[in-house]
Amino acid sequence: MKVLQFFSNRITVARVYGIPVRIDYRWFVVVGLSIWLIAANLQNHAIQVANVSLGPMGPAGAWLLGFISTMGLFVSVFGHELSHALMARAEGIEIEEIVLHPFGGMARLRNQPQNPRAELRIAMAGPAASFLFALLAFAAAKVAALGGYAATVIIFFLIGWGNLLLAVFNLFPGYPLDGGRVLRAIIWKRSGSITEATRMAGICGILIGGILILFGAYIMIAPNWRASQPYFMGGWSILVGLFLLDTAARVVKSAHGARVLTVGDTMSMPVSIEPDLTVSKLVDEVLPLHRQTSFPVAINNQLHGILALEDLKSLPRELWRATRARDVMRPIGPRFFVDPSATLEYAKELMKRNGVGALAVVNTNGDLVGFHQNGRLRRR
Ligand SMILES: [Zn+2]
Repeated sequence: MKVLQFFSNRITVARVYGIPVRIDYRWFVVVGLSIWLIAANLQNHAIQVANVSLGPMGPAGAWLLGFISTMGLFVSVFGHELSHALMARAEGIEIEEIVLHPFGGMARLRNQPQNPRAELRIAMAGPAASFLFALLAFAAAKVAALGGYAATVIIFFLIGWGNLLLAVFNLFPGYPLDGGRVLRAIIWKRSGSITEATRMAGICGILIGGILILFGAYIMIAPNWRASQPYFMGGWSILVGLFLLDTAARVVKSAHGARVLTVGDTMSMPVSIEPDLTVSKLVDEVLPLHRQTSFPVAINNQLHGILALEDLKSLPRELWRATRARDVMRPIGPRFFVDPSATLEYAKELMKRNGVGALAVVNTNGDLVGFHQNGRLRRR
């Protein structure tokens, strides 16, 4: 409903690559705090970075620097999320929106990554971008230092550290952080179960949230902690910890109920034929026993291709004795096989597109371990 949308707590500020970028109202509070924190520090302390020193500054300059640095950090967070989103798009997943919220950002995908490899790539894209931004910002600070532009050095220095922090913090191995997604992809790949992987990564997320809360409380009460703003730092750590704890707990809970089927759950044992088998033998000896519309072609569990009966229609009967499976099969290609850990949804999608209506299931060692097909052969 339009009226309700108006009162929802997000506004759409832009579209980038066709992706709506929305900002949570509470995010403006954090931006304000960040500007204030930087400005207050610049007004009260002289800052020394490498060979340049600055300040203490007057209020106008300090607030301006606080504003520019904060905007730089905001663009950095956005760049991090955009990197996730574009990698997801490259993996064939549509992006619902990019949201900037008080604790960073989130690229919301329309559906889940369908295999561990896609999950891993999408998760790594964010921190990789942040590391790159950090590197660029530090390089820019260095160049500015050569020219003696103290204010520019400080801005790039802050942006560099902000990005480094963003990359490192996001690699903590707990869901919903990027590191947690990496962990989920690894467990998913190993166990073949996305449900189990989600649960484990979520539990790690709960642990990390708890540690952040304890850490924040420690900063606040420890008498000799030398942070410049102990209550602010501690309070922030507690808030981020609570946010992680809450999100992770919800993920663990939902992983409990919904079980996602993988190819490994539903595949059947493969009935494969050898590349040298003739078509006449296939029709006379194999088909009567195994009424499939297609067969994996393999030797010693090594997949060579897939033979679809449909491709035999154009082959004259008198050539059946002289034609071997290898001559008429479709040679192996990424459209014809999946990993047992891929989701059933992904397998169905692939079968729809590959023209055979079937998929070989090949494990990490490259062995043919199963076969997946849409239909069985109808009797004529
Ligand atoms: Zn991220």
